[in-house]
Amino acid sequence: MSSDPQSSSPVWPSIWRGIKCKCPRCGRGWLFHHYIEQVDYCSVCNEPLAAYKVGLFLPLIVITVMVHILGFVMLEMELSGRGSPLIYLYVLVPLSVVVPLAILPSSKGGIIGLLWAKGWSDEQDR
Ligand SMILES: [Zn+2]
Repeated sequence: MSSDPQSSSPVWPSIWRGIKCKCPRCGRGWLFHHYIEQVDYCSVCNEPLAAYKVGLFLPLIVITVMVHILGFVMLEMELSGRGSPLIYLYVLVPLSVVVPLAILPSSKGGIIGLLWAKGWSDEQDR
């Protein structure tokens, strides 16, 4: 079953369903069956989702979010006078590993929701 996403789907609800790692069409089926491995079809509405490839947009989004988070933490540490190199090591290194891993599925889901709502799939290129 396939829909016409461009004519019927508002963008923000689709992005929000993707951020929740759910199908951008129905919002009930899971978007990933492993950590960030995208399903081919939604298990609830059978929407084909494999053609929506996020490509290099995903690292762009994750890096942009991380730069803002780390920049805020570094600025806060410097302004509060706790900016020693050891504190940086203990706070920023784990933060720069854990936060990207935590936001990766939601970021990928949000991008897939945007691509789905706009109908920007790989199938258009063929
Ligand atoms: Zn679905």
